[in-house]
Amino acid sequence: MVTFGAKLLSDLAAEYEERGEDPLPVYQELGAKGLAGLPFDPAYGGGGRPYREYLDLIEELARSWVALAVGIGVHTLVCDAVQRFGTEEIKRELLPAMLAGEKFGAYALTESSSGSDAASLRTRAERTGSGYAITGRKQFCTRGGEADLLLVMARTGVEGPKGITAFVVDRQSPGFRPGRPERKMAWRSSPTWELVFDECPVPDHRRLGAEGEGFTIAMAALDGGRLGIAACAVGLAQAACDKAVDHVRAGEAGQGTEFMLADMATGIEAGRVLYEHAAGLKDRGARYSQQASMAKLFCTDMAMRVTTDAFQIAGDDLTARFFRESKVLQIVEGTNQIQRVIIGRMLGSEAGL
Ligand SMILES: Cc1cc2nc3c(=O)[nH]c(=O)nc-3n(C[C@H](O)[C@H](O)[C@H](O)COP(=O)(O)OP(=O)(O)OC[C@H]3O[C@@H](n4cnc5c(N)ncnc54)[C@H](O)[C@@H]3O)c2cc1C
Repeated sequence: MVTFGAKLLSDLAAEYEERGEDPLPVYQELGAKGLAGLPFDPAYGGGGRPYREYLDLIEELARSWVALAVGIGVHTLVCDAVQRFGTEEIKRELLPAMLAGEKFGAYALTESSSGSDAASLRTRAERTGSGYAITGRKQFCTRGGEADLLLVMARTGVEGPKGITAFVVDRQSPGFRPGRPERKMAWRSSPTWELVFDECPVPDHRRLGAEGEGFTIAMAALDGGRLGIAACAVGLAQAACDKAVDHVRAGEAGQGTEFMLADMATGIEAGRVLYEHAAGLKDRGARYSQQASMAKLFCTDMAMRVTTDAFQIAGDDLTARFFRESKVLQIVEGTNQIQRVIIGRMLGSEAGL
């Protein structure tokens, strides 16, 4: 069990979920423990640990508090984009504070009319004398109202993926304001925001990659992010399974529940192996996009089944929360229908179809 100060993380989770409040002090303390920059280059203050080890941390956090694990996952995804695609100047400027957990990142791709079809986004970045001015609205941005730095994908050119560019925007920039947070059935301690940009100035050096490379950057960041979501799903499923086992052991469930428990435990083991395999590919520098989609798809569908069964067995408030939380995992960072589209397309391209 993860302890945090004098408290169990699961107790803090219950309190923050009840209040519907973002746990910034908890993120800051994770940062102080070196857990906001585990898989990154020590030259910029990172922990230099394998991605697989970072995912073990995410699974462990999610076992107590999935919304917190998701918050670290989103932050890591933004740090990953900066480390992989940023210039030396932007890496030196942003990464030390981000990897120390003094500044947190959010990822702003989705818009009201472009979720699954992200390449049709409409937010625009117009050239100015000293850089760009961003105008538009983003939707469903995790911790977008709390984060210090926003990775924003905006259109600088033609329609479609080739006209999109990525920028790192300061929260204090004039012309930026968080709109309204969503009311949600789960992840109440992970605020989800609309973001409003009105001629928000971004200097040249805050562009990530070249003009037109933004969609590639956004998708590359999501590959690693999807492994984080897979690890969250395994941690959440494990917590639900543990609760169901306790209930059965206490003699409070009917006969035959062992079969349900056996299916839960088997799914959890399989999911863990799948995400760890994909993380191993990433750590070796091999291609892993397809395996990331497979892990996200399998682990989050598995978590939905496990939490449904755990709720059926234990039927208490906590397993009800787990059930609601797992539904969101099937949607974020590309719905599971979209993961099937990606996996199918890659099979087609390998077969030359
Ligand atoms: C709690 C939460 C947090 C989020 N955080 C972030 C964030 O931090 N940053 C960010 O950018 N976004 C974030 N999102 C947005 C999320 O990535 C999108 O909700 C998701 O990609 C789906 O987009 P959509 O909601 O517009 O649904 P739509 O794209 O409208 O899809 C609706 C339904 O149609 C299906 N569908 C759509 N196209 C196809 C297709 N081609 N084939 C088969 N089925 C299809 C979908 O699977 C889905 O079931 C978040 C969402 C939630 C709920």
